[in-house]
Amino acid sequence: MDFKEHIRVIPDFPQPGIRFKDITTLLKNGPVYREAIDAMKAAVSDKEIDLIAGPEARGFVIGAPLAYSLGVGFVPIRKSGKLPGETIEADYSLEYGKDKLAVHKDSILKGQKVLIADDLLATGGTLVTTIKLIKQLGGEIVGAAFLIELGYLNGRDKLEGVDVFSLVKY
Ligand code: 5GP
Repeated sequence: MDFKEHIRVIPDFPQPGIRFKDITTLLKNGPVYREAIDAMKAAVSDKEIDLIAGPEARGFVIGAPLAYSLGVGFVPIRKSGKLPGETIEADYSLEYGKDKLAVHKDSILKGQKVLIADDLLATGGTLVTTIKLIKQLGGEIVGAAFLIELGYLNGRDKLEGVDVFSLVKY
């Protein structure tokens, strides 16, 4: 399957100079969406996983079906102010902006094995912050799985020791 055929590239979104990889064209195609999740599942099948953590919002679209398919739990990583319970927060910077990410304090127990899932690895800022939150709760990171990796932004280099898988590379 050539997944790239189903990903639309939109120039100058959300800012001039950014070539945004739009996955909505892949998501609306049921068989292709399923094949992408199945391929990501196969890529992590050697790992022991208790939980999948996915950053909002597209991390939910990838992480939740992956968690369902693996029969493990899903932990939402959200922007500050969205989660109702007690949270911990950490700052992060994006390819095009800055924000805070949060997670419920009781969402990950010490020693639980966590796989991070998201639609796209760009600069790695989101991933580094997500890792920080999970480690702060005592979770053990067993890897990170992405639908897309923008290799030219070298996000992977920020992630000492984390096993990174991506289905499609640009
Ligand atoms: P990073 O933190 O690695 O720089 O950026 C990755 C995050 O930004 C991901 O959560 C992803 O959803 C979002 N993102 C950045 N660029 C793109 C893009 O071109 N396409 C999509 N779909 N998401 C992007």
